[in-house]
Amino acid sequence: MPNIDIPQLDPLAILKGQSALVTGGSSGIGKGVAIEFGKAGANVAVNYSHKADEAEEIVKEIESFGVKAIAVKADVSKEEDVVAMFKEVISTFGTVDILVNNAGMQKDSPFHEMSLEYWNKVIGVNLTGQFLCAREAVKEFLRRGVKKEVSVAAGKIIHMSSVHEVVPWAGHANYAASKGGIHMLMQTIAQELAPQKIRVNAIGPGAIKTPINRVAWETEEAYNDLMKLIPYNRIGLPEDIARTAVFLASDYSDYINGSTIFVDGGMTLYPGFRTGG
Ligand code: NAD
Repeated sequence: MPNIDIPQLDPLAILKGQSALVTGGSSGIGKGVAIEFGKAGANVAVNYSHKADEAEEIVKEIESFGVKAIAVKADVSKEEDVVAMFKEVISTFGTVDILVNNAGMQKDSPFHEMSLEYWNKVIGVNLTGQFLCAREAVKEFLRRGVKKEVSVAAGKIIHMSSVHEVVPWAGHANYAASKGGIHMLMQTIAQELAPQKIRVNAIGPGAIKTPINRVAWETEEAYNDLMKLIPYNRIGLPEDIARTAVFLASDYSDYINGSTIFVDGGMTLYPGFRTGG
């Protein structure tokens, strides 16, 4: 049996020396992840699609932790944008060690009225976008290989999935299909690339307080309704997801590969069965 070294880490800077790209990093969960990565010692590229000023604000905050940060514009559903984004990040930081495939959107509609445009838009950003970014990241991980002083893995990918990877969601067929697709994309890449020391995992957030689901938390009535779905009885915050992402990006999670970690206050525990069934 070979000797297996468990990496020794500085818990206050567990991503020190690594470079990360966070897609959709200028708001909500992506913003939380980008900031927490900077605090953990990583250089961070904050991808945005529209609002350069919001991304630049986050870049300033990340730089205040003594690491490098850049804002990089790209529509993740467009191949040429994604290829150009990786080129820019790699030429700025030297490489990319961590990809957080976070950009996502909803375009909701009753199923029988769902337009092909809504279907293609959501699949294009949420699923094709994650494929394109993962592919470019893997090319770089394979080119560089393992640098033990940085990480025992050649690279890490974290897909932002959802509880709707496993929980069906009426009125959101395009979104739920994209998240179900992410699950098999993530596990297939993980299986294919584990021998090359590339780790691929997903986070399945429950209800997190961000702009994407404002209607679910902005009034007291909506919030109380939402709590019926969350046994832990509070909404999640971007920090809840960001801390999980730091763990999954670090060598602390070196033996986790091909898993979705649900960060959902128990939303996937069929809360309706607490008092019924
Ligand atoms: P958000 O709307 O704040 O963030 C989504 C980000 O993706 C935005 O910054 C947006 O500009 C970006 N984006 C959209 N289309 C893009 C494109 N074509 N190219 C590049 N960027 C694009 O919402 P959020 O809640 O922070 O969502 C982040 C991720 O978390 C999404 O994948 C979402 O599906 C997932 N998620 C969120 C929740 C929740 O409760 N908030 C729950 C489960 C999963």
